[in-house]
Amino acid sequence: MAAPQRRTDIGPPHYKDFLPPVIQKNYGSWKYHEIINPGVMVHVADSGDKIWTVRVASPRLLSTDTIRDMADIAEKYCGGYIRFTTRNNAEFLVSDEKNIEPLQKELKQKGYLAGGIGPRISNIVHTQGWVHCHSAATDASGLVKAIMDDLADYFTTKELPNKVRLAVACCTNMCGAVHCSDIALVGIHRKVPRVDHGNIKNMCEVPSTIAACPTGAISPDPAKKSLKINDDKCMYCGNCYSVCPALPISDPVNDGVAIVVGGKVGSLRSFPKFSKLTVPYIPNNPPRWPEVTSVIKKILDTYIAGAKKHERVGEWVERIGWEKFFSLTGLPFTFQHIDDFTIARETFRTAATFKW
Ligand code: SF4
Ligand code: SF4
Repeated sequence: MAAPQRRTDIGPPHYKDFLPPVIQKNYGSWKYHEIINPGVMVHVADSGDKIWTVRVASPRLLSTDTIRDMADIAEKYCGGYIRFTTRNNAEFLVSDEKNIEPLQKELKQKGYLAGGIGPRISNIVHTQGWVHCHSAATDASGLVKAIMDDLADYFTTKELPNKVRLAVACCTNMCGAVHCSDIALVGIHRKVPRVDHGNIKNMCEVPSTIAACPTGAISPDPAKKSLKINDDKCMYCGNCYSVCPALPISDPVNDGVAIVVGGKVGSLRSFPKFSKLTVPYIPNNPPRWPEVTSVIKKILDTYIAGAKKHERVGEWVERIGWEKFFSLTGLPFTFQHIDDFTIARETFRTAATFKW
């Protein structure tokens, strides 16, 4: 007898199965939304139905205990309907108004930070860092924890001219949204990878390692049955290390953080923008990175003091000019800000640096 047919790949379930009933009922016919306080907003449907969103920050890398706790809270107050935003905020979707106050009370009592809705900072989208990734030039969760501890007021109570999106990527592979966030950090290596000649033949495929280098800096070293790197051509991207573990690039002394500013995804009022380099390098200083957090605070406070209502960081900088941005923030303009990469084509003005 033939075996019964069995489906082995069912794919992801349809997202509509997970929408709260009030959203399913009013799908596509919503009238407006209103921000009630920094941690709560309400959406009102054409039919008059309402759904409230209660937002709290999450540390992004969540323990199963925290996820279970959040799920239990969601079961208790909003039928289990909880979602995570792209910036790692947790949002409880409440369809019964009388549950909002007790929900907020329990969240506060358990130490969750409510906020992030409206003209303030959101949670920080970040990458894996030293917890998880082999090519990290800085930490992600530790750095984000230090920044968010310092900026908690900007998430909970302070009003900004507009929303400010923050991001951290722990190397230039950039798994985060650094290129298009208002203020962002990217981990950078500053030294050429070290060649572990003894292990190249055991751990690496020579052709694919040579092909992985975007600047053609790697070539065979037949005498050593290994590889060699042309230091002058290397731009410390770490791409080779991703395919060949015998070319380690991480360096506890020289690795650090660069800060870029002024990117955005939205096309409201002005086109989406790429971020520009503002601080080329700050050494890693774990566990609290005080030099990094103070620069971010300085940029944020200068933006709050100078921007018009509704201006995003990039729009404010473009209105006043980058020269004024550097003089107001007191950040030095250095040779690293100038784009002198010779392979860059004149028409591709997409570098994070400034064209001379
Ligand atoms: S940004 Fe780089 S170091 Fe960080 S998770 Fe992505 S590849 Fe790894
Ligand atoms: S770090 Fe980047 S530029 Fe340098 S050798 Fe490796 S792949 Fe090439």
